[in-house]
Amino acid sequence: MTDTELIKAARRVLADLTPIPADCGELCGRACCVDEGSELDSSERGMLLFPGEARLASRTGFLHVSRISPSDCGPSLGFAECRRRCIRHSRPLSCRIFPLVCYVRPEHRTLSRPPFEIILDPRARGLCPLYVGKGENITKEFRNGVRRAYAILFRSPRQVRFACRLSAVLDDYLEFTNDQTEL
Ligand code: SF4
Ligand code: SF4
Repeated sequence: MTDTELIKAARRVLADLTPIPADCGELCGRACCVDEGSELDSSERGMLLFPGEARLASRTGFLHVSRISPSDCGPSLGFAECRRRCIRHSRPLSCRIFPLVCYVRPEHRTLSRPPFEIILDPRARGLCPLYVGKGENITKEFRNGVRRAYAILFRSPRQVRFACRLSAVLDDYLEFTNDQTEL
């Protein structure tokens, strides 16, 4: 399967799954949609795209897609900014899995199919009201869905490299928050 096909398959797994049974955006005024970004995405408003996702995002009509050069000096990455009203069924994977994220431990990052963990995204701290304790408020169905989505994505070496690269950025956040608990 191509990366784009894997993205579509991962999206299907997540389907209508949401972190909690209700619309969590009501809790926070959709804080993650107005966040200013992080070190990896150059502090611009928007989200990183997974390998193979740029073409899908550019077809949505509400996302502006570009490439950014992250501060880790690695290859450029796809990046999407929301320019119009969100079309929920077309939103990128980053939006579908937040406030969870895949984390690959440093000692596993040279493996072709590394084990991974699904953790609370440390970048959600102070932003997302679901960032509480060890993420007990987030449903098991959602956590399992995110895990299954990554199991699909990890069939591709490009997706593995992307996850390892993001994990390296998360290391700094995790050191700061001292919070690396698998869900
Ligand atoms: S910040 Fe958290 S609670 Fe708010 S919309 Fe995003 S995922 Fe839901
Ligand atoms: S694509 Fe939709 S869900 Fe994602 S950040 Fe933009 S408005 Fe929010």
